[in-house]
Amino acid sequence: MVEARVGVIGGTGLYDLDGLWNVREVWPETPFGATSDSILVGELQGVAVAFMPRHGRGHRLNPTEVPSRANVYAFKTLGVERLISVGAVGSLAEQVRPMDLVTPTQLIDRTFGRPATFFEDGVVAHISFADPFCPHLSGLVATAAEAVGATLHQTGTYLVMEGPAFSTRAESAMYRSWGATIIGMTALPEAKLAREAEMCYSFIASVTDYDVWHPGHDDVTVDLILGNLRQNVEVSKRLLQQLIPAIPKERHCGCGAALKDAIATAPQYVKPEAKQRLAPLLQKYART
Ligand SMILES: [Zn+2]
Repeated sequence: MVEARVGVIGGTGLYDLDGLWNVREVWPETPFGATSDSILVGELQGVAVAFMPRHGRGHRLNPTEVPSRANVYAFKTLGVERLISVGAVGSLAEQVRPMDLVTPTQLIDRTFGRPATFFEDGVVAHISFADPFCPHLSGLVATAAEAVGATLHQTGTYLVMEGPAFSTRAESAMYRSWGATIIGMTALPEAKLAREAEMCYSFIASVTDYDVWHPGHDDVTVDLILGNLRQNVEVSKRLLQQLIPAIPKERHCGCGAALKDAIATAPQYVKPEAKQRLAPLLQKYART
């Protein structure tokens, strides 16, 4: 039973979703443990939506501790096909200013020690990940951003670092030399897991500050960053109100067939436990 077609994962400062009606709170149990927090399932202007704060309400989980597999799995079992992720980032490019928004088009993975696949222990799959974000969903985000008067950059490379400490100056300079546009700690492994779960995935990155490479960085105070963060959260909230009702029911992208040619394990060798564990992902490919 589909309970929500659109999922939203809120980042730092975004712990609820305005305008949600008929709200039900669910605590999904998953084979990958508990989710970051309860999921609020409701309706926003006629669209069934599920919302979860990535770090838990009260910001209890650091980026390494976020149970991304449980989170994405739980959204999958609710029927989510579009996953919109919101998060704060630092800018590695002069033209991307604090308070701007970015829908990244590329990722560089500098995380380690985070489980990044559903496919292990009895079943192997290799998804295509050349373009990690759904261009259609990101296009809808851009349209919504324009409608609410936000400045949004439609391309950019998001470097995902492990954290929780921020970069050194040498690292920041190196990431810039790699062509990274923004830096944060949360788009991975979410994006990989969303692709494995055949969901469209788009990330709304809101810039709080220039990273340490910038000559003006030493003038940045915690107060300033928190002020920017608060305003960014307000903009993200307005954007989501505009975006969610504009998402069409039908999908015309390849995201919904990401697993079609990706499962490497011969069907007779897939462990029964793996089949059972990944039933929400594998059911449609089950051969009788
Ligand atoms: Zn898509």
